[in-house]
Amino acid sequence: MRVSLRCFNSVSRSGLRTKSTSFIGLGRMGHEMAYNLFSKQFAQAPESQFVVCDAIPESAQSFCTNFVNQYPGAKIQIADTPEEATLASETIITMLPSSPQVLSVYNNGIIPALRKLPTELAKNTLLVDSTTLDVDVARSVAKDVVEVGSQMVDAPVSGGVTGAKAATLAFLVGGTEVAFKQSHPILSFMGQRIIHCGPSGAGLGAKICNNLILGVQQAVVGEAMLLGTKLGLDPKVLTSVISSSTGNCWSISVNNPVPNALSEKSPPCERDYEGGFATALMLKDMGLASNMASLAGCPIPMGEAAEALYAQMIQESSELGRKDFSSIYVQLEKQSKQPKQDLRSGEMRNE
Ligand code: NAD
Repeated sequence: MRVSLRCFNSVSRSGLRTKSTSFIGLGRMGHEMAYNLFSKQFAQAPESQFVVCDAIPESAQSFCTNFVNQYPGAKIQIADTPEEATLASETIITMLPSSPQVLSVYNNGIIPALRKLPTELAKNTLLVDSTTLDVDVARSVAKDVVEVGSQMVDAPVSGGVTGAKAATLAFLVGGTEVAFKQSHPILSFMGQRIIHCGPSGAGLGAKICNNLILGVQQAVVGEAMLLGTKLGLDPKVLTSVISSSTGNCWSISVNNPVPNALSEKSPPCERDYEGGFATALMLKDMGLASNMASLAGCPIPMGEAAEALYAQMIQESSELGRKDFSSIYVQLEKQSKQPKQDLRSGEMRNE
């Protein structure tokens, strides 16, 4: 299943590159997205070619093994580097952790490979980056891609691993009208809502603003649920009141942080906060919002307060950093048991 750079070069010279799609970054999201994309492309055109690439070779290998077991006869290969993955395919999707990895993959792999391609092949190439990263970094990478003559969109997602698995993701797309139209059929294999938010970087801007709200919302829901419990309210009753009142939001009615508070749903708190959206990823997104806000000269005091809470949580417990970010409730509960500082006198008191 593994192929050499020479072999990729011959693929790029033949017509096979047109029928080939590469996916770089097969982590929690990328694995599910690539699976949906490739299986639907295979069903539509069995002659399609697929290429996967990950910094962890075992991830690429296990993806290929799974895929071939499920779809015998599918043409799938492993690229050792993003450069090989770019030479092999006309469409390249990246789903990486954040800005440093995107800079490295594009500057050291994808862009040099695009420059090696004949002009006509470079022109036909589409790059889709679904990573959540800094808007400025995304725009600078897209500028370099466009200079080579290729098309690129930023297409971060909303919907988490569950949405990735069910192919119900929302894609928030930034790029030209031409690039958006070109990417739409690919994205529709992995998601349900595909929204053109504006030019390059606009998809990321929308994603980061949404996650700024989400980060603050989950923190304040944790605070309200803890306060209500301490006031003697049953978490189920409190959840039902808030869900049908003006405080209703996703963090209370879907991602409720208190076990048993939601009778008909099973949020991560029911599984000791496993699965879901990791606190470390939320902290990363709050950091992206802070960077953007400071560059734009926009005050985000609520966002900064929530960011500090997530940072403190991870500093005190790397385990909570891995768990769903609704575990901020656990952190607040822990804090409620610690000696408090009397805000008026500044003295410590034990209760
Ligand atoms: P992940 O860490 O599970 O996956 C990232 C993958 O990229 C890993 O397999 C890693 O080995 C690979 N990788 C890293 N550097 C690489 C390189 N240089 N070359 C090739 N591969 C490389 O992360 P994830 O949870 O899949 O998230 C991916 C992106 O999606 C992030 O930007 C995240 O913020 C965003 N996102 C995640 C969720 C979620 O619920 N997990 C939801 C929405 C958006």
